[in-house]
Amino acid sequence: MANETRLETDVAIIGGGGAGIPAAIEVGRAGGKAIVLEQADSCGGTAAISGGGCCIVGTPLQKAQGLDDTPDIAFEDWVKWGQGAADEIWARFYLEHTLHDLYHWAESCGVKWTDMKFQEGNRVMRWHRPDNNGLGLMTALIKTADSLPNVKFMTSTSAGKLLTRNGRVCGVTATNGKKESFEIHSKCVVVATGGFNSNLDMILENRPEFKAFKVMEGSGFGATGSGHKMIRELGGYFTHMDHIWFYVYATPDYRDPKGRRGLVFRLTPGYIWFNQQGKRFHNESLTGGASATPAMLRQNPPHAWAILDTPMTAKMEVADPYYRDGDKVRKDKVQELLDNSPYIKKANTLAELGRKIEVDLPSFTSTIERYNKAFDDGLEREPEFGKSLKLSKKFDTPPYYAIQLFPLARKNFGGVKTDLHCRVLNKYFEPIPGLYAAGEVAGMAGGHINGKAGLEGTMLGPSIFSGRVAGAWAAHEAGFGPGFVGKPNRP
Ligand SMILES: Cc1cc2nc3c(=O)[nH]c(=O)nc-3n(C[C@H](O)[C@H](O)[C@H](O)COP(=O)(O)OP(=O)(O)OC[C@H]3O[C@@H](n4cnc5c(N)ncnc54)[C@H](O)[C@@H]3O)c2cc1C
Repeated sequence: MANETRLETDVAIIGGGGAGIPAAIEVGRAGGKAIVLEQADSCGGTAAISGGGCCIVGTPLQKAQGLDDTPDIAFEDWVKWGQGAADEIWARFYLEHTLHDLYHWAESCGVKWTDMKFQEGNRVMRWHRPDNNGLGLMTALIKTADSLPNVKFMTSTSAGKLLTRNGRVCGVTATNGKKESFEIHSKCVVVATGGFNSNLDMILENRPEFKAFKVMEGSGFGATGSGHKMIRELGGYFTHMDHIWFYVYATPDYRDPKGRRGLVFRLTPGYIWFNQQGKRFHNESLTGGASATPAMLRQNPPHAWAILDTPMTAKMEVADPYYRDGDKVRKDKVQELLDNSPYIKKANTLAELGRKIEVDLPSFTSTIERYNKAFDDGLEREPEFGKSLKLSKKFDTPPYYAIQLFPLARKNFGGVKTDLHCRVLNKYFEPIPGLYAAGEVAGMAGGHINGKAGLEGTMLGPSIFSGRVAGAWAAHEAGFGPGFVGKPNRP
């Protein structure tokens, strides 16, 4: 124990992201003491770089647009989209609580919901965007947690191992950037360390079929599965771990020294995708993980080229902090990417571009000619895959670009199994005393709330919600507050 500082608290929370911060707010508001351990130099996690979209039902924003949505309708969409693999109890629990315990609760913490976006699989718009996306949302929640006198933050501090005494979790070890070591002793621990999609080894371990192809890491930098390891050592039961949500509109991040990370540029209006045989294979306006991903994975090899002309590149949005300034796109950085990435080719003619990317040239050029003709013919949709041409244009302005796309692991739909109090369960489905998990380490909530596919907004929303639930019950077990009560939205 030499050189280790011993700290005491009621609840230790590992991870200061989408789930950890709401957990801290609950503990603090219940009157308990919390220490939040965050390995990065500031809190926020993947949640802070996320789109911030949350799937919420029955909101004032929906009503203002005349949308009549209920937890029952949303539940049907959710279960159908999850292809029979969603945890229906957790899905119901979440959906009924989104209005009061996510939408209005977040507003009470200073979050402003601004607008909605339609997402595949939903019958109505439910994806609610907060002001300034994930950064705006997390900034408000962190400020709220920070205002509670009994919540302490230890940033640049990585949690190591869970501590146990008499079969009960009673704290965690940690080390900070100055190589100082700590033992944080607590009555309960909440693990909120996020997913593992920034750990390629773990991705391949859970999806070994990808070992033969290039796949990329694509979550926040902290999503390395460290919490999974801690929980596994204590016998936590993991489920649906192969349910990884891959996106396919991503290109390797050539600036990553390890060559593992990818950059997402979703739904660039106008672009079309080609396989290595020089053929289109999908309606590129459908970019979801349940539509575009299986389409690309069926190609041989499973990668593609996104083709753009110069005006289209002006609309490219790269979802990575280096390419953004809050919710604004840094166009200079996007141009830097286009000019420097070895995975992006540029040419003054389409034929020259086809030669550079080594696709079947006659097929490539004739496909683009046919696509262009749809504009000459004044069609609303191009005939091959029925893509709407409303936001698209002809390929007519060089230089032309081809951006190589590979599957990118974005979100973990599987994780450690928990009960409705977020207590971590072992293989006998009994709680491990003192141990709670919330957010992506728990497959967003409960182990596998989404199933095989998510309606979108169904990662961050359940992470925040399960963080609240875990924090409230951990505080209760530590002797503070009634546990999670909430207000379901029922007729
Ligand atoms: C670019 C991007 C956009 C997204 N957009 C959306 C969206 O619009 N809507 C949606 O629903 N979902 C979205 N998601 C997914 C969503 O952001 C995550 O599922 C959610 O943030 C998970 O919350 P979390 O608290 O579990 O993890 P995180 O928010 O990642 O927080 C985990 C924290 O734990 C810390 N940590 C990890 N290990 C340790 C350790 N050993 N010690 C100390 N700290 C540790 C990490 O540094 C991190 O800060 C997006 C994901 C990405 C990558």
